[in-house]
Amino acid sequence: MIVTQRTLYKLLLTAICGFTVLSACKKDGMGGELTQEEKNNESFTRYEGKFLDELWKLNPDWATSVGYHMYDSVLVLPSEQKKKLVDFAKNNLDSLSHYPQNELNASNKMDYLLIQNYLRKTQWTYGSLKAYEWDPTTYNIIGGFAYILNEKYEPLAQRLQSFYDKMEAIPAYFKDAQKLVKNPVPELTDLAIEQMTGGADVIEKDFIDSLTKSNVPDVKQKLMRERARTSAAAVRNFTAWLKTIKSDKGRSFRLGKSLYDEKFNYEIESALTSQQMFNAAVERKKKLHKEMIKLSKELWPKHMGDKKMPSDSLAIVEEVIGELSLKYAEPSQFQSAIEKQIPKLSAFVKEKDLLTMDPSKPLVVRREPAYMAGVAGASISSPGPYEKNGNTYYNVGSLEGWDKERAESYLREYNNYTLQILNIHEAIPGHYTQLIYANKAPSLIKSVLGNGAMVEGWAVYGEEMMLDAGYGGNEPEMRLMWCKWNLRTVCNAILDYSVHASGMTKEQALKLLTKEAFQQQAEAEGKWKRVSVSSVQLTSYFTGYHEIKQLREEYKKKMADKYRLKEFNEKFLSYGSAAVKYIKDAMLITEVEKPEGGKADQLEDEKEGPVDAPKGGGKKDTTSSD
Ligand code: ZN
Repeated sequence: MIVTQRTLYKLLLTAICGFTVLSACKKDGMGGELTQEEKNNESFTRYEGKFLDELWKLNPDWATSVGYHMYDSVLVLPSEQKKKLVDFAKNNLDSLSHYPQNELNASNKMDYLLIQNYLRKTQWTYGSLKAYEWDPTTYNIIGGFAYILNEKYEPLAQRLQSFYDKMEAIPAYFKDAQKLVKNPVPELTDLAIEQMTGGADVIEKDFIDSLTKSNVPDVKQKLMRERARTSAAAVRNFTAWLKTIKSDKGRSFRLGKSLYDEKFNYEIESALTSQQMFNAAVERKKKLHKEMIKLSKELWPKHMGDKKMPSDSLAIVEEVIGELSLKYAEPSQFQSAIEKQIPKLSAFVKEKDLLTMDPSKPLVVRREPAYMAGVAGASISSPGPYEKNGNTYYNVGSLEGWDKERAESYLREYNNYTLQILNIHEAIPGHYTQLIYANKAPSLIKSVLGNGAMVEGWAVYGEEMMLDAGYGGNEPEMRLMWCKWNLRTVCNAILDYSVHASGMTKEQALKLLTKEAFQQQAEAEGKWKRVSVSSVQLTSYFTGYHEIKQLREEYKKKMADKYRLKEFNEKFLSYGSAAVKYIKDAMLITEVEKPEGGKADQLEDEKEGPVDAPKGGGKKDTTSSD
């Protein structure tokens, strides 16, 4: 059953009210007085509910994306949202200060810290970062509309009505946006123009197509079509306006050291500073190079025959990797190659007893829905925290219609070795497994304010854990290809920091990626484009991975001969998507009660589900594997 948000919200309210009645009974003598600690935790839980209600009201698009559909029809004007969020942050930081952080239980304490970080980040976003002035992609509202149109969480007619109501504010929205944009970054202006030019089609063409297929009465349809045309025109006017104000003298896309450091602190929530993270990445690169050179020398005779080994060590690695990359699936077999691997991964996890998986939530492999197309590869669409019963999909891109050269280059990148690592990262025991555990964590806050570095770090950690457990038969080829993959996350972190905080040039960046990370020119150019329209996110993979590895070492020491890998993995995941440093505190310092629902039976071989339209869909790992 798919629980719609409105039903679920009612259920939640009932649960909260029921809880209050129960605790009143307790106080009345049935179970004795509540301790002060219990009172604190109860009152904090009530506060969280209030916090979330208000959060969704101010962020309707975000609410829609996590499966909370009460505000689907609302579009908040940017300047109004700015003012209200700043007030919200101030008031809630004040409310939060009245709760005794250190007297809360471990789970609530993590929530406290996540909320506090979110509120401080909000103040910083509007007070210091001010991306609403220089990043026009801030005003790309198309995602919310596309979600309502494409995700089948409610009957079509109902979703079309929400879409229609939400469109009403579009002209005012872009007028308001024009007042806020100042001196925009040229690269981000181009990106906004590109995104919203395509987006205008969602508002007009896709909406009208769906309308035609619906049972909405003709008279009403006419009104809806008219509004769609007016709204799409407003989007196009905004992109036209952006073209007129775009200037090469706009703000630099480089964030600058101090904003970068602050953004890193708020978004990654790491125990490390950005400089320490950078240093750790540089060390990791050295270590990987050493291992890769050793493996490549070993593999040389087997794969390169009598060919003379180059004198430059990195050139040896490059040649062996190039040779191994030639083993790849036929374009027409790409999707089925992925499908066949999923049950093998589950079986391996079970056989090696790495962690318990929930058999009631099988992963459904499907061809990537048309509206997501454009980014080939693979991604996970999982039900949001308010739609726990929805399916989890593994979206696999198709190479149909690609020219031969492009398809071959892509397949060389996702060769037989790397494709298996991609599946581990995206699916088992990577993102899919982690998200199932996260949805079982006892608090919504950890799902909603989840930490990207923990999520990506876990997927990267999972790759290495599988290889260490013998996945791929301990083949040196597999290990070498994983090293290349791991090197990519390491170089992403080095690149991001160097470009935004210390002025690395494009030439230096391309050299790093092609010479030291063994990437193709096209891939490296793509990465340069990405680092010039994003910041900090590219460091999340490495930082999370590095911190999880460190935590595991310390946990091993603490547990001594009682240490079990499975127990570590399950305990780590049981806290939900909280920042690694908070999980570390809970695992190393305090002993906490085991969160509910952490256990499940062994996963049976997953049956491939029907390939149909998307349901639910809270988070999409669009950045997929790197
Ligand atoms: Zn990922």
